[in-house]
Amino acid sequence: MKYIDRVYADLQKKYANQPEFLQAVREVLESIAPAVEKNEEIYEKNAILERITEPDRIISFKIPWVDDKGQAHVNIGYRVQFNNSIGPYKGGIRLHPSVNPSIMKFLGFEQVFKNSLTSLPIGGAKGGSDFDPKGKSDREVMAFCQSFMTELYKYIGADVDVPAGDIGTGAREIGYFFGQYKRIRGVYEGVLTGKGLSYGGSLARKEATGYGLLYIVDELLKDHGDTLEGKTVVISGAGNVAIYAAEKATQLGGKVVTMSDSTGWIYDKNGIDLALVKEIKEVRRARISEYTKAHPEAVYTEGRGVWSVPCDVALPCATQNELLEEDAKILVANGCKAVCEGANMPTTIEATKILQESGVMFVPGKAANAGGVATSALEMSQNSERLSWSFEEVDEKLHGIMKNIYKNISSTAKKYGMEGNYVAGANIAGFEKVVDAMLAHGVC
Ligand code: NDP
Repeated sequence: MKYIDRVYADLQKKYANQPEFLQAVREVLESIAPAVEKNEEIYEKNAILERITEPDRIISFKIPWVDDKGQAHVNIGYRVQFNNSIGPYKGGIRLHPSVNPSIMKFLGFEQVFKNSLTSLPIGGAKGGSDFDPKGKSDREVMAFCQSFMTELYKYIGADVDVPAGDIGTGAREIGYFFGQYKRIRGVYEGVLTGKGLSYGGSLARKEATGYGLLYIVDELLKDHGDTLEGKTVVISGAGNVAIYAAEKATQLGGKVVTMSDSTGWIYDKNGIDLALVKEIKEVRRARISEYTKAHPEAVYTEGRGVWSVPCDVALPCATQNELLEEDAKILVANGCKAVCEGANMPTTIEATKILQESGVMFVPGKAANAGGVATSALEMSQNSERLSWSFEEVDEKLHGIMKNIYKNISSTAKKYGMEGNYVAGANIAGFEKVVDAMLAHGVC
């Protein structure tokens, strides 16, 4: 049995109950095969694949908190510190009822390669809890966040592990986390990113993932002699990534016609009114169905379905496994030219294959949504030098980083004879840098 196949078979046996983790590992291992085969002896001797697929540590803990009626609750918290070969652990905190060890490990694993692609010195991690902030009062969210940090503070630090936002963790939650860390440790340091601007946050961090995604779309289209001007864009999600992806897509001349949340989706043939979506989601924290109250000409449909709308560019920006095989077939039939992932692993392996085999340009999340963590690393730099850069300065750096990522994944794919296969390009480029550092550090 080949080295790669043996390692994957072992993981399948060991982690049969972690489907998302196995899916992420399979996608990476399949596409890095040419790079592994080239160096098989040295990688196998140093157990590189065994070491890179096993987190350095998984911390899990109890989070007791009390609701507004005086009732106590218990949630489970996690931090998966996956790999710190190229820098301190870095990755978001997800607060969503679906959070479990499999999802934490898949996200931490992906983060290792994504962070490597940014070219910045950051290792990979992920954390979270099965707590659902939806429908909770600010006080309840604060009680939860303080309890979460009362345990997590032992394992993080500006040079150790720097968590950030993710699904369910926005500026409010980061504020409560930071306040509690500072209170317990008595240290004012850049231990979290995505902070508010009054206490060490970076301008353009909020916009970074969505903007970065569109900077890569722009590079991709330019590289193929095209632009976003006049293109129809379909977006899923209506959270942080989706909103700022829609904003930049519109600035670049595209027309965004759909957005969604976990209850349903809207189609506005005139182009989404983004100011209204921001008001609904960022201010009122309400459902996307509210949109049609102000725009009766738009259509709201319950459940999923954005991929059925004919488009040139599709941007999944909600969550994992939201673009399935049948969706890919519809996108292809409707003439979609490019799919770029704003979310982490939104496209299933089967759907990705259909898109690639049908000639749809496909950029995976670990490259396309790396703008968020890259700007988090820029926030860390600003915190270290105790300075704040202007919006333009951060945005310009972000733009440069995304252009470089595109160049890197495109040239790596070419180098291995797989031109246009950005999944292979991203996985191999991310992998090679981390492995180089791992080999330099010895077996540890
Ligand atoms: P938000 O919580 O701000 O928004 C998530 C959006 O997706 C919401 O519209 C939400 O709807 C929807 N959603 C969440 N879960 C589901 C589900 N199970 N089914 C259908 N819809 C769902 O998160 P972000 O925008 O920050 O993150 C979106 C994705 O991007 C995630 O995969 C995240 O890991 C990834 N990402 C985020 C980065 C960032 O900087 N924020 C950086 C890189 C990647 P509802 O409100 O109804 O739950």
